[in-house]
Amino acid sequence: MKINPQHVVSLTYDLYVDQEGAEVLAESATEEQPLTFLYGAGQMLPKFEENLSALSTGDAYDFHLSAEDAYGEYDEEAVANLPLDMFKESGTPEIGSILPLQDNHGNRFQGQVVSVAEDSVIVDLNHPMAGQELHFKGNIINVRPATPEELSHGHAHGADGHHAH
Ligand code: ZN
Repeated sequence: MKINPQHVVSLTYDLYVDQEGAEVLAESATEEQPLTFLYGAGQMLPKFEENLSALSTGDAYDFHLSAEDAYGEYDEEAVANLPLDMFKESGTPEIGSILPLQDNHGNRFQGQVVSVAEDSVIVDLNHPMAGQELHFKGNIINVRPATPEELSHGHAHGADGHHAH
């Protein structure tokens, strides 16, 4: 079956990123545990879906996404200074740890602690893959029409559509 909006796609992928001039495997999904998602529902990177748009069950794919088309260029300004007081109860976070954060509008995001000063914690708000070109390779394992329940929820319910949640 061909990939289309309102269809659920299961695929394998290997995601390679560039590290000091060499491509290294950053993430993957296997045939036993494929990535399953509702196509066209805005859950995936738009350019990722665009690159799959002509494919059908059984097809292989291999493409690159520029940083701009993936998680954006690295933004030197995307750094927050959090008062150390915020961590009175949880304890001072370690450098390199990932903090779950929330803005004034209730949006959740993550930040990585880059340094701890006398009265503040400095957090990098860039996506961990910001500034990276992404190289995706994999196979389309299955394409099926989404169930009415999946369409009303806006996400896939597993490879067979019956995943309880
Ligand atoms: Zn659901």
